[in-house]
Amino acid sequence: MIAQERDAKAATIAADFPILQTKTRRGRRLVYLDSAATSQKPQCVIDALVDYYSNYNANIHRSVYEIAERATEAFEGARARIARFLNAAEPAEIVFTRNTTESINLVSYAWGQTNLKAGDAILTTQLEHHSNLVPWQLLAEKTGAELRFIPVDARGLHVLDDLDALLDGTKLVALSHASNTLGTIAPLERIVPAAHAAGALVLVDGAQSAPNMPVDVRALDVDFFAASGHKMCGPTGIGILYGKRALLEAMPPFLFGGDMIRTVSYERTTFNEIPWKFEAGTSNVADAIAFAAAVDYLEGICMQWVRDHERALMRYAFSALAELEPLGMTIYGPQDPDRVVDVISFNLGDVHPHDVASILDAEGVCIRAGHHCTMPLMEKMGWPATARASFYIYNTERDVDALMAALRKTAAIFHLG
Ligand code: PMP
Repeated sequence: MIAQERDAKAATIAADFPILQTKTRRGRRLVYLDSAATSQKPQCVIDALVDYYSNYNANIHRSVYEIAERATEAFEGARARIARFLNAAEPAEIVFTRNTTESINLVSYAWGQTNLKAGDAILTTQLEHHSNLVPWQLLAEKTGAELRFIPVDARGLHVLDDLDALLDGTKLVALSHASNTLGTIAPLERIVPAAHAAGALVLVDGAQSAPNMPVDVRALDVDFFAASGHKMCGPTGIGILYGKRALLEAMPPFLFGGDMIRTVSYERTTFNEIPWKFEAGTSNVADAIAFAAAVDYLEGICMQWVRDHERALMRYAFSALAELEPLGMTIYGPQDPDRVVDVISFNLGDVHPHDVASILDAEGVCIRAGHHCTMPLMEKMGWPATARASFYIYNTERDVDALMAALRKTAAIFHLG
């Protein structure tokens, strides 16, 4: 698809998102460049929420009346659609959680506390989001296991030279598919087979990959995969954990109560089958159904188109931002559209990124500034904070141009260059 057609398609997609039709308080067009934090929601996802609450709101699994059966069907149907989206072997391998963070914690509690002991190792990387670091630190403390790190180089690329040594004694490799700070895509095709050969399981934090590229959990051969609905056009408060059936079956539940049981007596309880064994209490029915609407929407666009569009937009943005080098622009990360998702971290001269973000905000351009929940990475690299722009299906070259104009204004205000 030629660049103009692709950009025109993105503009058509933007028309599906009510918020992108609004203006900021200062009357500016909203240029939303913070989709790595959370994506905007298309009308069909908002409609799915309204439809559920307006027409068939009821608790699931337990009742025989019509609207409850409809709600149960829609909820379990949502699971099946998300399973298909990720190419899981069966819906039972998809557990609904609140978000990526909860999915990772589920594995840490249910699998980690049962299977790890002193002398074992957990291997992660130096560029993880706190959500895929803190649970492993705590697990290591509790079990006596050692936490190890795959290093990243100055560009933010994984260094695999010592992978075999790092895998020796490792029982779990937990890494992000794509970095939320630098965009770096992990070389799973090298890491997953090596981990399995060493007898380790692999958990992939897919918070930044599931929204932005085709993901096939079976082709990747990962054991666990975590993702959040809100970053992929779905609502907040709903996420998934994919796990291979045998692993989920062997794991004990970690939340206890209603819905996750098979039988209960005063003395003892037997647990439900997967995935319900991990879904204690009333589920987030509305958001699961709307998450499936989001997945349908993304499938309608085609995930390969999403990846191609973002790659092209990144190429355009990298060369545009490079024009600001004489004004003190520093871009972090690999700067190779084939090796990153939709994220660019940068700094403009010595202007604090929060000031950059505030000036951009006055122009209607929404970006993020800070440590992006990757404090250890920032410290290792020696960056106190960065500004971060991230793109999605509804962004066009016009949005990159708006970013550029706002950055030039910032440079002028601070007399850079
Ligand atoms: N991992 C990565 C790579 C992320 O980007 C994020 C969200 N910024 C998370 C985990 C956590 O996602 P959530 O807050 O939806 O649980």
